[in-house]
Amino acid sequence: MKSINAKLLISGLLLALLSGFAGLVVIQSNRSAAEIATAMIHQGIDPLDQLEGAARSLGDLERRFNAVPDSLSELPMLRTEEAAELLTSLTEIVRKVRGAMVALPNGGQGHKLDQLFYSINRLRTSEGDVTHRLVRRELANILNEVDAAIDLIRDDLIRMHERTQSERRTIDLAVMAGGAGGLMIGLLLILYLSRSISRPIRSAATILRQVGGAPNSGSHHQTSDMMADLEAAIRFVETVIETKDRSSKLLKSTSAAHIQAAVERQQNRLRIALDALQKPLCLVDEGGRMTDANAAFLHMFPGLTVGSHISSWTDHTQLTQLLAARAQDEVVTFPDGWTCRVRCHSNPIDNGVIAVFNELTNQDTAQRELERISSQDSLTGLLNRDAFHHDLENALKVGETPFFVVVVDVVAFKTVNTTLGLTAGDELLRAVGERLSAIAGPGGRVARLAGDEFGLIVRGENAVRAPERFGRVIVQDFARRPVTIIGRPLAVRIAVGVVPDLQPGSGLDVQTVMRDCEIALATAKKSASDPFCVYAPEIQKEHQNRQDIERDLREALARGEFELHFQPFVDVKRGCVSGFEALVRWNSPTRGRVSPGVFIPIMEETGLIVPLGLFVLRDACRQAAHWPEGLTLSINLSPRQFEGGDIVADVRQSLAETRLDPKRLQLEVTESLFLSDGDRVLTVLNALRGLGVAMSMDDFGTGYSSLGYLSRFPFDKIKIDQSFVRDLDRKENMAIVRAVLGLGASMKLAVIAEGVETAEQMRVLQEEGCDEMQGYLFSRPRPAGDLPKMLVDIKEGFQQGRFGREVNVIPMLRSV
Ligand code: C2E
Ligand code: CA
Ligand code: CA
Repeated sequence: MKSINAKLLISGLLLALLSGFAGLVVIQSNRSAAEIATAMIHQGIDPLDQLEGAARSLGDLERRFNAVPDSLSELPMLRTEEAAELLTSLTEIVRKVRGAMVALPNGGQGHKLDQLFYSINRLRTSEGDVTHRLVRRELANILNEVDAAIDLIRDDLIRMHERTQSERRTIDLAVMAGGAGGLMIGLLLILYLSRSISRPIRSAATILRQVGGAPNSGSHHQTSDMMADLEAAIRFVETVIETKDRSSKLLKSTSAAHIQAAVERQQNRLRIALDALQKPLCLVDEGGRMTDANAAFLHMFPGLTVGSHISSWTDHTQLTQLLAARAQDEVVTFPDGWTCRVRCHSNPIDNGVIAVFNELTNQDTAQRELERISSQDSLTGLLNRDAFHHDLENALKVGETPFFVVVVDVVAFKTVNTTLGLTAGDELLRAVGERLSAIAGPGGRVARLAGDEFGLIVRGENAVRAPERFGRVIVQDFARRPVTIIGRPLAVRIAVGVVPDLQPGSGLDVQTVMRDCEIALATAKKSASDPFCVYAPEIQKEHQNRQDIERDLREALARGEFELHFQPFVDVKRGCVSGFEALVRWNSPTRGRVSPGVFIPIMEETGLIVPLGLFVLRDACRQAAHWPEGLTLSINLSPRQFEGGDIVADVRQSLAETRLDPKRLQLEVTESLFLSDGDRVLTVLNALRGLGVAMSMDDFGTGYSSLGYLSRFPFDKIKIDQSFVRDLDRKENMAIVRAVLGLGASMKLAVIAEGVETAEQMRVLQEEGCDEMQGYLFSRPRPAGDLPKMLVDIKEGFQQGRFGREVNVIPMLRSV
């Protein structure tokens, strides 16, 4: 329990409860004692009084009748007056006994009195019609009974008295016990309170003394009055604080004077040093006021005074401009013919600058011009690659502010060169350079790093936070505003890579930063929708992975790690294999079997698909030439194979070399082929068809304008993509399959469904009129050695009804 108030409250409540309880016990005991006393009066003393009165009357009566001489008493009957007297006395006695009976509670004594009452009444009702002897006997009896009743009541009274006594003793005991208990509890409470209240007060006093710096709190003598002790402690601390305050003021005043003197000495030293300097030099604060200048400066520019504002230097406007622009490295010739190089170093103390003027000799001037020329890119006038690296090195080593680097690549620049001509290409590069310089602002350093690649170094206060925003500004600027070249607007696509958070002195070198730039740029280029990337270590890791695969793929090509597998095309009407599609496999000694889904895209990006495609073409044709007559060979061609080289010549040569009948060769292309230069593609496709080979459209229906392409080029075959076949239960898929089959029928195109995995899919497709299929239901792609087995297995499969329905197989293959 923490609060003293709470402690006091609870203690008070306990004491009040205790005394209340003791009081209750006493009141209760008193009440019962009083009740007993009343009972004694009512039940004992009253009836006793009455009975004793009756006994006295009886005694008188007895004496009266005993006083009658024996002789007389021998008289058998009472006389009339005697009888009357007896009657009167007895009536009186009866009244008293009745009174006693009324007062007595029902019980033993009551019963006794009943008997007595009965005896008296018996004598009374005799109305004196009795003998003296009988009267005497009866009176003696009655008197005995009255005495006995009196004795009984007296006993009762004594018992009552004893009970009162015992009640009183109980009260005494209760009062004593209550008193003693209360005393004990009170003592305990006082002990507890004094401990719990006094201890914190004392410890507060001790802490105060410690705070005040009393030598040893343990040695301090504590007085018995803790409040006085606390007060004393507070006073002690006050005194200590006062003393300290006074001494610190004293110290401050003395040290301020000391520091002042030191500063003045230092200033004097600086003054002497500055004035000894031959180079003119001045300091200008953020607001443009000259705060200091050395003797050389004041000599060179007479009339200028320290404290004046640069805007007031009307005789030296050139100087004003240089300082206002914070010239970084400017060569100027002043009106009096003095040529110098001006450098404004930033002065962080008042956000101003320290301007230093280096006199130039003639030789210096020539050298500088040479430097300028050699650091410039002749086409754009921007910095060249060497100058950019030099700048970057300076920024990394001796720079003062954090910065970031941005690299910009003009996507498909080559296409501009080839389609619009070299002059247009040059114009485009110049325009891009100007646009970037405008975005970078006056302080920005923009360079052309290579053919269509630009670099920017961006410094500034928020260089730590701004890289992402800055990069996006560039992307958006080009996305929104076309560049005008040879008089026409051209939408220029750019990719932007950013390396953020570069700190001077971080130990990074130019090569590392440029490598990171290239990684960010390469990553940006990969995304057509958002060609923007800020470098991060994870990107480096990803990039490294890609590089590794790329390297392995190159080696794989050289080492011949690629192999062809074949997957059958099945004629379900005739129940036999109609041909095979060649699908390439990579058996990497380190990575195991890698899926073409992983390596084909990388090979397409790197262009490695061209040599690989040539291998597939040659090897597949070579193998197919040995297959039974009538089996077709299908080969996949990548769009990249249509770009460089000469695919037409390659196919012609492969056919000639292997003597494969061109009619047996089908070439599969996808719609992505038409994304690049459509006209050129059409020319090549027509040339291929001219060789006598069939052209097949792969993955039909997955692109956006499959139908459009179909109308532009007369394909021989359409392959319904497996995504539609996989889920024929979906209405829209079924509708597409039907539409493609209808289209095939009307355009006289063969249609093949790929990815057929179940007998049910085969049944539905066949019902819809599709006769050629490919899929795991018949066989997975298998190595060349498994070809004969596939032919036999599939034929048997149809015969045995394994694919759902039995078919009359036309014997077609005699041997392989
Ligand atoms: P693709 O040309 O569409 O080839 C069909 C792919 O579907 C093959 O995958 C084949 O194994 C798979 N497939 C066939 N039937 C079924 C089936 O019933 N169910 C399922 N789930 N899949 C089935 P693969 O061999 O992994 O080839 C993937 C892709 O790699 C090919 O797709 C093709 O685009 C490319 N590719 C393979 N070989 C070459 C090649 O020599 N040259 C070029 N340019 N691309 C190739
Ligand atoms: Ca294919
Ligand atoms: Ca396909």
